[in-house]
Amino acid sequence: MSSLPSPQLSVSSMPETLLPNLFLDSTLEHLSLWDVQLQSSEQGQKVVDTLEGNPLIPGVILTEGGELLGMISRRRFLEYLSRPYGLELFLKRPLTSLYRFACRDILRLSGDTLIVDAARQSLARSPELLYEPIVVELSMQNYRLLDVHQLLIAQSYIHVLATQLLNQAYQELDEVYKQLQRQASLDGLTQVANRRKFDEYLRQEWLQMERLQAPLSLILADVDFFKLYNDTYGHQQGDDCLKAIATAMSQALQSPLDFVARYGGEEFVVVLPNTDIAAALAVAEEIRCKVKAMEIAHQSSQACEFVSLSLGVATTIPGSKNDGISLASPEKLIASADLALYQAKKQGRDRVVLSSPN
Ligand code: GH3
Ligand code: MG
Ligand code: MG
Repeated sequence: MSSLPSPQLSVSSMPETLLPNLFLDSTLEHLSLWDVQLQSSEQGQKVVDTLEGNPLIPGVILTEGGELLGMISRRRFLEYLSRPYGLELFLKRPLTSLYRFACRDILRLSGDTLIVDAARQSLARSPELLYEPIVVELSMQNYRLLDVHQLLIAQSYIHVLATQLLNQAYQELDEVYKQLQRQASLDGLTQVANRRKFDEYLRQEWLQMERLQAPLSLILADVDFFKLYNDTYGHQQGDDCLKAIATAMSQALQSPLDFVARYGGEEFVVVLPNTDIAAALAVAEEIRCKVKAMEIAHQSSQACEFVSLSLGVATTIPGSKNDGISLASPEKLIASADLALYQAKKQGRDRVVLSSPN
């Protein structure tokens, strides 16, 4: 057979790598397709010549008057030849008489079929037809042949690509989600935690300290004569002052569990898990001194020449019945600190007051 004349066919060469330019929405037109059409008027010999001419060609397409008549795959061709007198019979017959042999169970898809859809349809065929080449109709009477092996390679590439894109999209989404979460917990002006985050954190640490039977302390801090500060220096400078106070308060905290939030307006709150009365008072005093040490002028204040804070401190062991300082709920702890803050204001401001059990 090696001496047979080479076929007069236009056969596109299959590139080494067909993968890099594929995308999720790539269609069969994006794949390397074989241009192997034979007219039905040709002799069977022509099929032999064609398949002999290039061992990569998966089969030949038969047409009659431009219309698709059928397709002979290389596998079927070899099967046919292996029969007694197969080659002889085949060679001597005109292609029209091969019609029945050629037209069986052809998967015919248009060129704009998505690769993923084509792979699905291809794999849905019965096992003996699984590797039969696919006839691709690029346009009217313009047929090409697709090797299923190439289709499956392309499909697996697209699968990898889809997985990568999905991972990438997930990471981007995760980043946006985390950023949104951060923003949702922060106070826009001062960039410390907001009231919502404070409520969540206090509840969480309340339960934790209840389990550990450890003290939980809370500090409420309020800027002294802040209305007068705004009136004297303007609202903008008032905002800057609140930012500076928030920063100073954050810096005064020692333990990673210590937590500061803007409680509202010119009030801040500090949660100190696993902190007893003495340690909480020390933190409150440290905050008071740090803010005062910034020496932000406040000429209208009757408490101090600089911006100052009044602070109320409360401590409890959550859930404890017999320690003498137990407060029944996070709300009661806040109320207790608020009462102490009120005392601090009443006693002249710029000071720390510890809540009394009564
Ligand atoms: P006291 O010492 O009794 O706490 O007096 P005070 O003036 O600080 O208390 P008051 O509650 O009368 O006034 C609080 C002021 O805080 C009034 C309000 O305009 C100001 N304030 C609240 N939130 C902001 C803010 O976000 N920016 C600015 N610049 N001012 C604010
Ligand atoms: Mg206030
Ligand atoms: Mg105030």
